[in-house]
Amino acid sequence: MLLVFSDLDATLLDHDNYSFNSAIPALALLEKRGIPLILASSKTREEMVAIKKSMGNQHPFIYENGSGIFFRKKTSFGVAHSKIKGFLQSLKTKFSFELFSDFTPHQLQQYTGLTGQDAQNATKREYSEPVLWNDDDNKLKNFITLIEEKSLIATQGGRFLTISGQQTKADALLWVKNAYEKEYGAPVTTIALGDSENDIKMLAAADHAILVRHPYKDFPQIDRPNIIRTKEVGPLGWNNAIINLVRQL
Ligand SMILES: [Mg+2]
Repeated sequence: MLLVFSDLDATLLDHDNYSFNSAIPALALLEKRGIPLILASSKTREEMVAIKKSMGNQHPFIYENGSGIFFRKKTSFGVAHSKIKGFLQSLKTKFSFELFSDFTPHQLQQYTGLTGQDAQNATKREYSEPVLWNDDDNKLKNFITLIEEKSLIATQGGRFLTISGQQTKADALLWVKNAYEKEYGAPVTTIALGDSENDIKMLAAADHAILVRHPYKDFPQIDRPNIIRTKEVGPLGWNNAIINLVRQL
């Protein structure tokens, strides 16, 4: 059995307009072959439910960078948002940064392009807080040390540094893989796609890994053999890589 795990922003969704249109042929191929597409993102549960609906995707999903997994029911591996936010607020006297949940609707639109219900959904955070770093790189190291001393992690996504509990997208991939193997009694082969640092562990944990080209950034560093790097950017790269790989497997 084959499972595909994919990041959303700048991977399956266009970085600028959040469209997945260029990936529709590959999405249709997965559907036709009965291959579940498990979306794995730093987005909230509500954001992902809306995106899954627009794609007609009814499969399990991984949200807030792996802190939450929806597989028939919600399973939490995260640290409560209120606790993370409280700790971050205590660091505001030492460092210059902005919290996602403190953004005004105008800032949210400016930094993410999200408006209306999509913006509302993005603020419904359960286990993680994205941070916009305004301080210098040296101070960022101190900041991350303090985060890690609290048994939290800082994960770099396409736009934000997200603070969460220690569960990553890679842990969530392995959990979902295991759940499918138990349910179907057959070994599962995994494909993972992503574009940023917060996808690297997930890509390293998968049997087949695809790095999707970002429109404005170089590919992140990854230490694993047989990595596929797409020629085209975003959803078009996703489309071509999935069609090629699925036809070979
Ligand atoms: Mg991304």
